[in-house]
Amino acid sequence: MAGKLRKCIMFCCMKELSREDMGKDAYEEAIAGLKSLLSEKGELEAVAAAKIEQITAELQANDGNKFNPIERIKNGFIHFKKEKYEKNPALYGELAKGQSPKFMVFACSDSRVCPSHVLDFQPGEAFMVRNIASMVPPYDQVRYSGIGAAIEYAVLHLKVENIVVIGHSCCGGIKGLMSFPDNGATSTDFIEDWVKICLPAKTKVIAEAGSLSFAEQCANCEKEAVNVSLGNLLTYPFVRDGLVKKTLALKGGYYDFVNGSFELWGLEFGLSPSLSV
Ligand SMILES: [Zn+2]
Repeated sequence: MAGKLRKCIMFCCMKELSREDMGKDAYEEAIAGLKSLLSEKGELEAVAAAKIEQITAELQANDGNKFNPIERIKNGFIHFKKEKYEKNPALYGELAKGQSPKFMVFACSDSRVCPSHVLDFQPGEAFMVRNIASMVPPYDQVRYSGIGAAIEYAVLHLKVENIVVIGHSCCGGIKGLMSFPDNGATSTDFIEDWVKICLPAKTKVIAEAGSLSFAEQCANCEKEAVNVSLGNLLTYPFVRDGLVKKTLALKGGYYDFVNGSFELWGLEFGLSPSLSV
């Protein structure tokens, strides 16, 4: 699989390079030549017009300002390999043998909240699940087997010592939860059904902070949803076992990227003191 991917990337890069090598001047010359031919021989009009259209499309595709996802991925990996992989042979040598992360982390899929950046987790430190609004559903072998498998693997096989559920500011998933009608009507295939995992958080916020602005209610719900997820973790028998044996701790976190702050707290019944930075 890795071999196939490498071949594909190399092939694509070669293709891109060969196009760039031709340069824009060559294309412009070709267009000028075709225009001249067109003025001399009227019957070639249709052929020439089609050719000019094709060349123009190729020129636009090669526009230097256009985002090139293959280049972005290639350059990103080259940078990582040079600056991190090759500079830390001991770390990557260890990781080649296996992983024993101390943390399992639930974080939102939001592109602004990557825990590896925000908490400086290095490779091998955190086993991660990212989904809409960083929610942990209750134990359900049919509906949520993907999440269940990740928790089971992290707790029983990797023996993580901490599960951290991290909410964040301006979360679109929570905004959706707070906005969707409660009458059962849905307009999405998956999103509403998924975020309703944390419906108890919405109910609590509306009951306790219903007079606040919608934005403030959402901010409250972003934290309450973390608590619902922590509660849902208790529905997994291997999580409960870990807590009883004190080999596992559950923590809630909240990253506010508007104000640049991070909060961390234990379960409501106080397994650990809270920290705010
Ligand atoms: Zn989010």
